[in-house]
Amino acid sequence: CGIIGYTGTRQAAGLLIKGLASLEYRGYDSAGVAIAGGDSKDINIYKCVGKVANLREKVENAAPKGTCGIGHTRWATHGGVTDVNAHPHRVGKVTVTHNGIIENFKELIKAYNLADKLVSGTDTEVACAVINNFYNETENIEEALVKAVDEFKGTYSFTVLVEDEPGAIYAVRNVSPVVVAKGEDGCVLASDITALTPFSKEYFVLPEETVLKLTKDEITVKDFNGNEVEPEYCEIDWDV
Ligand code: GLU
Repeated sequence: CGIIGYTGTRQAAGLLIKGLASLEYRGYDSAGVAIAGGDSKDINIYKCVGKVANLREKVENAAPKGTCGIGHTRWATHGGVTDVNAHPHRVGKVTVTHNGIIENFKELIKAYNLADKLVSGTDTEVACAVINNFYNETENIEEALVKAVDEFKGTYSFTVLVEDEPGAIYAVRNVSPVVVAKGEDGCVLASDITALTPFSKEYFVLPEETVLKLTKDEITVKDFNGNEVEPEYCEIDWDV
């Protein structure tokens, strides 16, 4: 129910855990992070049931290197509270976190022949498989996201890492919020502004029917036709 993403010049793991801790008040049953942009091309996922403190311990022991990553606190809606069902989820080259519900996930399992391929009981992994399907087809994650969300019924925000672009984070949303900011040492997104305050006082709300791309020094927002959209920045006007 909380999301965070960071790509920049600093190590991501600690920043993501801190961000998740600041979103703890939203309520959750599991937490996880995916770290990319290290020396290898691998995306490393750490996730578990329970408090962010449990996840912190796991991540500190593994000490993953990488300057790009996404994090999630889960409030289970589909699939029990288990380590496997915690986010992030990975299918093929695509790794996602998801807030919300994909209502037609059962239809999607049939339509995309996923029944034997899923390892979790979540609607999220189904959505991830559909995104991966279109990514294989288009080799362009922005296009793949536009095509995939056209298939989804429900409310969602997805944050997405792709294996071929270790320093980039993508996001798309319907109803569920995503806020975005550029700090001195990188770009950040979250489900609410509490998690952005360490980075910047200027932020914008990602418009619906757009695709967000973050790199370490650039924010791009495109509408579903691929045209760039100028985000409207606001200021966080309270002291924290
Ligand atoms: N529907 C997803 C799940 O149950 C996401 C829930 C959430 O928003 O945390 O895994």
